[in-house]
Amino acid sequence: MSKQCNVCGIEMEPALTFMSEQGEICYACAYAPEDAGTKPLSSVVMMAAGAVAASYVVSMEFIRTVNGEIVAFKDWGAVVMGAVAVLLGLLTFVKKDFGSSRGLGMGVAIGAILLGAFRVVYGLGLFI
Ligand SMILES: [Zn+2]
Repeated sequence: MSKQCNVCGIEMEPALTFMSEQGEICYACAYAPEDAGTKPLSSVVMMAAGAVAASYVVSMEFIRTVNGEIVAFKDWGAVVMGAVAVLLGLLTFVKKDFGSSRGLGMGVAIGAILLGAFRVVYGLGLFI
């Protein structure tokens, strides 16, 4: 028979339960960083979201036109910040550090990976 963690609510193996002030909690919650249960989004998720935003703000555009037609386009700001967003999004999954709003944190991380990848492709001028 499995039990539920009192903090994150996941099903847990009876052998991997820990007693705490909150009652029985899972291994992950028992060893989670101090602020894991208090911050809705972990700092790595916030940084990933910030990098996506920065990829739209930080612009280092390089445009070459021939007879008024764009023949080359690069936005290194979008490439670099987009790549950072992808890495931070992936890091969130590697560390499984989503914050206490797990589903939301996971959604933001996935969004950062997808949007970051999009910004890299855009910044490299592959849409032109
Ligand atoms: Zn838990």
